[in-house]
Amino acid sequence: MDRTLIALARATRGFMPEDDGLALHRAGLEAAAAGTGPLLEIGAYCGKSALYLGSAAQAAGSLLLSVDHHRGSEENQPGWEHHDPELVDPATGRMDTLPCFRRTMEQAGLEPWVTAIVGESSAVSARWRTPLSLVFIDGGHGREQAWGDYLGWAPHVDVDGLLAIHDVFPDPEDGGRPPYELWCRALASGAFAEVAACGSLRVLRRVAADV
Ligand code: SAH
Ligand code: MG
Repeated sequence: MDRTLIALARATRGFMPEDDGLALHRAGLEAAAAGTGPLLEIGAYCGKSALYLGSAAQAAGSLLLSVDHHRGSEENQPGWEHHDPELVDPATGRMDTLPCFRRTMEQAGLEPWVTAIVGESSAVSARWRTPLSLVFIDGGHGREQAWGDYLGWAPHVDVDGLLAIHDVFPDPEDGGRPPYELWCRALASGAFAEVAACGSLRVLRRVAADV
């Protein structure tokens, strides 16, 4: 991946360790080169993961769709562990990560290859019809949000396409359960087989039609 973009990713706020990000980039390159559909991520925040996936889309002449309501997850709200007061809109007092996301994509020169979809993940997935060459789940980590993302988006991964899930922690000491449960379910369904793992990132290939 381009050195300048790696440096920008380092400087961008967010929740994507570099090793996981580079593994995500490789998955994006592979999926975008092999598949016909766009790449899609759930959970944009300030664009850190979109740098890794968007640059893969650029290299393959594909497109990254980046879904986020940009109001932050529960843990990003005031008083919670991952709150950043600089991401609060002073006019309304609400979280708004969209300006930061746009700035990141502009600085990266990735605007032609990254399209933001600003909205609730389930509202978008319920109306979705386009097969996707890669889906990356990194949105809300609560049980309801995470399962909504899996059930809403996994069926749209093309057969032979890739499903990536972040924050998969087999040991409960390391982090919350829902992303790990999605990964277990994806494997148990027989629809997905693991192809790569790095840090808490898991990459699965869709091998069967029934999710
Ligand atoms: N991938 C990012 C981190 C994402 S943090 C990175 O690399 O840094 C999780 C994001 O999911 C937050 O920005 C939050 O606004 C978004 N999110 C949480 N629940 C959501 C939902 N139901 N619909 C859309 N976006 C959601
Ligand atoms: Mg994450």
